[in-house]
Amino acid sequence: MEYRKLGKSGLPVSVLGFGTWITFGNQIERSTAKDLLVTAYDAGINFFDNAEVYAHGRSEEVMGDLLKDLGWSRDTYSVTSKAFFGAGGQLPTQKGLHRKHLVEACHAALVRLKVDYLDVYYCHRPDKSTPIEETVWTMHQLIQQGKILYWGTSEWSAAEIVEAHLYARQNHLIGPVVEQPQYNLLHRDKVEVEYATLYDGVGLGLTTWSPLASGILTGKYSLDRADQAMRLQREELAWLKERNVVEEKLRTAQQLAEFAAELGATPAQLAIAWSVSNPRVSCTLLGATRVEQLKENLKALDFVERLTPDVRERIEGIVQNKPIPPAF
Ligand code: NDP
Repeated sequence: MEYRKLGKSGLPVSVLGFGTWITFGNQIERSTAKDLLVTAYDAGINFFDNAEVYAHGRSEEVMGDLLKDLGWSRDTYSVTSKAFFGAGGQLPTQKGLHRKHLVEACHAALVRLKVDYLDVYYCHRPDKSTPIEETVWTMHQLIQQGKILYWGTSEWSAAEIVEAHLYARQNHLIGPVVEQPQYNLLHRDKVEVEYATLYDGVGLGLTTWSPLASGILTGKYSLDRADQAMRLQREELAWLKERNVVEEKLRTAQQLAEFAAELGATPAQLAIAWSVSNPRVSCTLLGATRVEQLKENLKALDFVERLTPDVRERIEGIVQNKPIPPAF
């Protein structure tokens, strides 16, 4: 396993992380969740991603129970939570990035995850109805109180991240070190264009999500396939299926799968290796419903150095979505 710093912070994170969206406390049994955590940890993964909203808190409960059972030394891994959407409650006090929710959600996550502090605490989305100053102050205070070590954002705009940094700098507060955006071969602009000035500018680190576009990039979806076990066939994710199980994306995924076979990789390995090969990505977050999937995906690291300029050009020729670099 390779380890990178989380942006300009000193925190070493494994280039592959493991997350629990849709899976823990929902799609998979606790025993599978345990096998997945053990497989990840044994492979050197030290970054475990969670959020209050995942399975309305049950994902964190499952992870917390397992971390307790497994008894890994707390100094060997990082665990995260994210606040914004709430853990199921729909009242205005139960979600958002105001001080009340951020503090209460942090306490609730600590209880569910059974840890004394969160290594990284994310603002899961921007909150247009809360002054950014209040959010920055609250995150700073949670750090001062020892409840969180670092804080970050998820799917914020570059302008919002800069605003948080400016406010933090002017007031001698600790700003965000990491952003958590979607990043995969079908979705690139935010990471490759919008945030381009922030890596050196504010030292932004990235923990990126959905390297397989929820499974599309494994090439296993087709327009007529209805395997209920796969994520995008789940009823509650019809909105995500609508965006992703579309002819153009499936065609691209199929062509990438054929190219991966030429390289001797699986489609998942090619897609994950491509994400890891971007040095701006501190940690590519994996998801899995089966141990075999995770083992396959971990082997992506063997393919990173095979992504030569020629191979990358072939990939660009297939995906046809190379972002136009910003003009500085
Ligand atoms: P992926 O895009 O990699 O999708 C993972 C899913 O793809 C698995 O659960 C599995 O679903 C399928 N899959 C994985 N590997 C294989 C394989 N080798 N062969 C076939 N199918 C495979 O990642 P996620 O979307 O899960 O994102 C990773 C993590 O990022 C999340 O768990 C979460 O922690 C974080 N995240 C953060 C978000 C944010 O807003 N900040 C949003 C989304 C995710 P199945 O078996 O059901 O097909």
